[in-house]
Amino acid sequence: SNRLIDPAPKKDDSLDRAIRPATLADYIGQPKVRSQMEVFITAARQRGEALDHTLIFGPPGLGKTTLANIIAREMGGNLRSTSGPVLERAGDLAAMLTNLEEGDVLFIDEIHRLSPVIEEILYPAMEDYQLDIMIGEGPAARSIKLDLPPFTLVAATTRAGLLTSPLRDRFGITQRLEFYDVADLTTIVQRSARLMGIAMDAGGAAEVARRSRGTPRIANRLLRRVRDYAEVKGDGVVVQEIASSALDMLAVDRQGLDHLDRRYLQMLHERFDGRPAGVEAIAAAMAEDRGTLEDVIEPYLIQQGYIQRTPKGRMLLAKALQEGVFD
Ligand code: ADP
Repeated sequence: SNRLIDPAPKKDDSLDRAIRPATLADYIGQPKVRSQMEVFITAARQRGEALDHTLIFGPPGLGKTTLANIIAREMGGNLRSTSGPVLERAGDLAAMLTNLEEGDVLFIDEIHRLSPVIEEILYPAMEDYQLDIMIGEGPAARSIKLDLPPFTLVAATTRAGLLTSPLRDRFGITQRLEFYDVADLTTIVQRSARLMGIAMDAGGAAEVARRSRGTPRIANRLLRRVRDYAEVKGDGVVVQEIASSALDMLAVDRQGLDHLDRRYLQMLHERFDGRPAGVEAIAAAMAEDRGTLEDVIEPYLIQQGYIQRTPKGRMLLAKALQEGVFD
């Protein structure tokens, strides 16, 4: 999709490498996650052991990959990255595992999309640092066992509910990332602006933060667009008025909602007339993928108090009506 505030990565975002925090101290917000990880990492380092396998879950763009990078760095290991859908065959995972060195971090993004065959290989690897696979076919097939160096699996998912329980049980540490509040996002925007050499005042930073849907990836993306606007329409300095006009022009609204969010709310409001609605029915009515609604749209609307998940379905809350957040 080409939503400006789509939290999924875009090509442009690869420029983010320069502004991605590299240490826990630079990881802004998420105070609970940060203080816990600080203790776990320090303890593991003092014992000279690999950190326990860590599962990170939360909506896209909140800093899961960033945290995996930080863990590897703080543990002094290399980061090897892959993802659930990429690991198609047993050999793919075996190759990654046998390339690990002691203390490395294997990062698997979208772990909920791992195939059952791959998952089976992961269990002994996680539990006993053992690779146990079949090679060959038919009568020539045989099983091979290999010792792996102690490593840490860091896995990320937007859908904790889709993980099988045997897999979930094998993580010693589980961290849930929350949407960022405006104060933390303001700090993130200010830090990024500094690193990118963008002149910006506090009002400008706060305006970008307010409209970033609680998501650092979106904040950094909006910052780049606002900078363009400031250079062309202003004197290059991002003050609040410039940020505000730029974001109005880009149709990012004041609550940080975009047209998909508003369509969702409007759908609940009009078609379902205030009654609870099943997510399937909403997805069908919007011609959207159910997963997108559950991973991307709903978590923020719930956190903002616009909707609620009930046993009977999704409910619109009074705040949505009061703020008139519809298209
Ligand atoms: P995810 O893996 O959850 O989709 P990323 O880790 O790729 O998200 O984060 C997206 C971008 O947001 C990163 O490139 C980084 O610049 C920024 N970011 C994420 N978390 C933080 C944070 N806690 N502090 C500062 N910047 C952050």
